Amino acid sequence: MKVSGADTAQTLSVEELSVHYGGVCAVSSIGFTVEPGRSVGIIGANGAGKTSTLRALMGLVPRSGGRIRLGERDLSKVKARDMVRHGIGYVPEGRHVFPGLSVEKNLLLGAYSRAWDKDTHQQLDEIYAMFPVLKEMRERLAGALSGGQQQMLAIGRALMTRPRLLVLDEPSMGLSPKLVGTILDVLLKLREEGLSLLLVEQNAKLTFGVTSHCIVMENGEVAMSGTSAVLSHDPRVREVYLGL
Ligand code: ATP
Repeated sequence: MKVSGADTAQTLSVEELSVHYGGVCAVSSIGFTVEPGRSVGIIGANGAGKTSTLRALMGLVPRSGGRIRLGERDLSKVKARDMVRHGIGYVPEGRHVFPGLSVEKNLLLGAYSRAWDKDTHQQLDEIYAMFPVLKEMRERLAGALSGGQQQMLAIGRALMTRPRLLVLDEPSMGLSPKLVGTILDVLLKLREEGLSLLLVEQNAKLTFGVTSHCIVMENGEVAMSGTSAVLSHDPRVREVYLGL
């Protein structure tokens, strides 16, 4: 099964990215890379600047500085709605499925950026193979799904564009521990397929379980970065972010 388009070697590079809201600095000149097939996590406490970083990367809030590149292409001036055409899929915080539309219509809306063709239906079948529960509920209204099912739908919808890189903002938010386990399994499956992942989370345990590298953000800056294996054994990270 191949739900992603992760066949072209392209590295996402974020350099000196800054975000200001009025006079307040939310993200201060941060940088990181996501190599093809790698999964990278951004963890940090409430208000550390994680969501602002993703939203600035996607062009959803104005950047006050910085460059974004995917391989050789400069995406710094690309508008949010066009990011998808450059192979970046986005699963926003809070899921944002269309509650009054069926599961299948939500998924088909994910394919809006491509011309509909037989490939669209093949992609739909692949998403259903990955998330059998969505197939079972294809005719149901998205608003009738549980939180975990809506999160799968939001991920499935982003995958309809065959991204090379999937950017996820707090996919575990508001989910029960069991459903967090389901999301972990989904992300591990996507990683196995070779899709690049950029995952923002408050749940450090989930993040370390999925990613190869992590950034710890504090007060809009990169406080620590390294391999997830090393960071997850760091005494300060264990105390502050894993509660151990
Ligand atoms: P959370 O996990 O709660 O989403 P976060 O790490 O994602 O937190 P951000 O949401 O990026 O952090 O917030 C970073 C800082 O920017 C915070 O101080 C927040 O209050 C501020 N902020 C975020 N969005 C706005 C906005 N639209 N206008 C003004 N300030 C904002």
